[in-house]
Parts: sequence; C-alpha cells; structure tokens
Amino acid sequence: MSSPTSSPTTVITNIASLVTNDPSLGWGSPRSSKFESGGRSPLGLIQDAAVVIEGDRIAWTGESRKAPATDNRVDAGGRAVVPGFVDSHSHLVFAGDRTQEFNARMSGRPYSAGGIRTTVAATRAASDAELERNLTRYLAEALRQGTTTFETKSGYGLTVEDESRALRIASRHTDEVTYMGAHIVSPDYADDPAAYVALVTGDMLNACAPYARWIDVFCEKGAFDGDQARAILTAGKAAGLHPRIHANQLSYGPGVQLAVELDAASADHCTHLTDADIDALANSATVATLLPGAEFSTRAEWPNARRLLDAGVTVALSTDCNPGSSFTSSVPFCIALAVRDMGMTPDEAVWSATAGGAAALRRTDIGHLTPGAYADLAFLDAPSHVHLAYRPGVPLVSEVWRRGVRKV
Ligand SMILES: [Zn+2]
Repeated sequence: MSSPTSSPTTVITNIASLVTNDPSLGWGSPRSSKFESGGRSPLGLIQDAAVVIEGDRIAWTGESRKAPATDNRVDAGGRAVVPGFVDSHSHLVFAGDRTQEFNARMSGRPYSAGGIRTTVAATRAASDAELERNLTRYLAEALRQGTTTFETKSGYGLTVEDESRALRIASRHTDEVTYMGAHIVSPDYADDPAAYVALVTGDMLNACAPYARWIDVFCEKGAFDGDQARAILTAGKAAGLHPRIHANQLSYGPGVQLAVELDAASADHCTHLTDADIDALANSATVATLLPGAEFSTRAEWPNARRLLDAGVTVALSTDCNPGSSFTSSVPFCIALAVRDMGMTPDEAVWSATAGGAAALRRTDIGHLTPGAYADLAFLDAPSHVHLAYRPGVPLVSEVWRRGVRKV
C-alpha cells in the first residue's frame, strides 16, 4: 500500500473490537456484536479488525483477514480500539488550588459562580512559565487517558493582558482555543458590569481574537444575562470567532435559545432545559455538550441525556476540566457517569465522547476512524469499548496514537 512518494504504511491487526463511528457500517460488520451493544449502534463496530495508517491519516479499516500489505505491522494483542477522545470543553490555563472549596462543598456548602475569583487571583499572580507548566501537565494526564484532541479556554485572567496571554499559551498546544473573557464579571468591575462587557467586546476581544477560534460566555445568574451574552457572542462573531456557550447549568435561562439563535457550535452543560429548549436544539446544528464531571463534583442534579437523545439532539460528552467545579481530565470517567446516571447507553456515551466532541468543534477530520481521518486511536486493555462504563475508575487506556504516531 505504499509508493515511493507516499508515507510509510502501518497495519494494526488483531483488534478485538474496533469503534469506527462510520455511519455507513450501521450495525457494524456482519460479525458485529448486537448482543453486546444491546441494539442498534452508532459506532460502526468491526470485530477482529485491522486499521491501516498512512502518515498521519487512516488509510483503511476492516476485518483483519482482509487487511492489505503494508510496510509495518503492529499486533494489538486482542485489545479494543476506539477513536481518540475529543474533549471539547476544558479550562486548563490556570494556577492555584481550590481543595478547600471542594472540601467545604462536600461538607454541605452549595456551588455558585463566584468561586472562580479564587482562581483568577492565583492565575494573575502566576508567571507565563508556571501557567504553561500546569497546562502541559494536565494535557499529558489527558493524553494518557486517551484524549487526542482538546479545546481549552481563557477566563481566569479577566484583564486584556491576562486573557490574551492565556490564549497565547493555549494556542501553542491546540488549535481549539476559546476566548472566554466573559467567564464572570471581573472583580475589578463589580460595580459596573456594563463597563466590563464593553471591555470584553472591545479592547480585550481585539487582543484575544488573533489567538482564538471560538468565543464563549457563562450565561447564568451571577455571571452574564441573556442580553449581555448576546452582545458578547455577537461581537465575537464580528471579529471572526465562532460562538459556543455555557448554558442552563445552574438554572433555567436563555442560554440554549441564544446558542441556537446565533448558530453556536455547542451549548454546554444543558442541565436545566425546558421542552422548548430541547426542540430548539433538535432543530439546529448546535450540539448539546454534557459535562457530568461538574454534576459529580458539585453534587448537582444530572443532565438528562436520554431526553436529549430521544428528541434527536446531537450530544457530546466532555470533562469541563477546571479547578473549581470539575477537576477531572478523564473522559472514561465521564463516560461511566453518563451511562450510570444520565441515561446513556455505553455505545451512545462512547460516540458522544468521540464523534460528538468532534461535532461540537465542527470538525470532520477527528472523532472517527474512517479513511481520511486523522490516525488518533486509544487502545483499551479490554475486549470492547463497553468496558469503559463497565469498569469505572480502571485505567483501561493502555496505548494512545496521535496523528499516526504512538504517544503513550
Ligand atoms: Zn466550563
């Protein structure tokens, strides 16, 4: 499968069960396991599978016995392989520690949006090198758990200089960078939120837009209301950024409807939804990104994934990794929570953490293992992807390839 001008090819054989997310495979190959999946699967499963990688891309997938000849050969040893996880929502440029806040909350105090200020103070005080060290540490942690693409945000600087440096640092590590100067109203503007919105949509936006692809806002009581959120996202669009939004996390509100109105790629959290919110999402290109680490870490009410899926909404699953409300970088942990507590099947949860995350980032080159996609793969020390939910808390990810190169 190689010519003098093409990249070397590698076949990975002896894959017990391969998740391709290829919709054309539907139920999977004739040998796919309907029993294990419990019904119709979106995963395009292939049993006894092989994958051929050419350069940084997938060149072929199918049954092992039909695999073409290649330059190199790797034996998966009967492990399952899934697409590398796409974590489409994290907040990883920060400094400081909120152990005490977590400890207090687990002793009975409720979560509110205000705890972010603690991290803002620590992040402003940190050096660039310290922020980048923290970021790379959490990225390495996520990679070991199978995450091959991640989005991350600013939002702990809340000044022109601190927001733009957070994005500058993040942009060295991912293409999926989100400007979130509108995380909360800066404490410096506590008496004049309108002036802070003017800053976020003016000088701060101008300084941040060159480093970012996305703009985000926390639309919530105690953060930004619907009109402020609309002004912020609209200004971001005018500056060439695409909107996403923290919506309907702690209470009912206008965030989801605003996301649909502005064609946001994703409305994230979606814990408190009316029927009209769900209808709006179902009839839009906006993905509902669920972040069960947040509900877990704040002992809050779970989002109802079943209700969204049954209405036809595209659902993504992500970590929301941040020091305040969800300090986990583990997508497998979120898959287990989504299955146990949010009404998702294991197949749906794995799809949402891969193809769903890609949809939430409007990417077609990741989140699936079909020819042409990036060769991002997570190997599981297990016979199938179902074990991600069946064996919660167990480090099943034993090998990770990113862009055709083994990283873990
Ligand atoms: Zn978040």
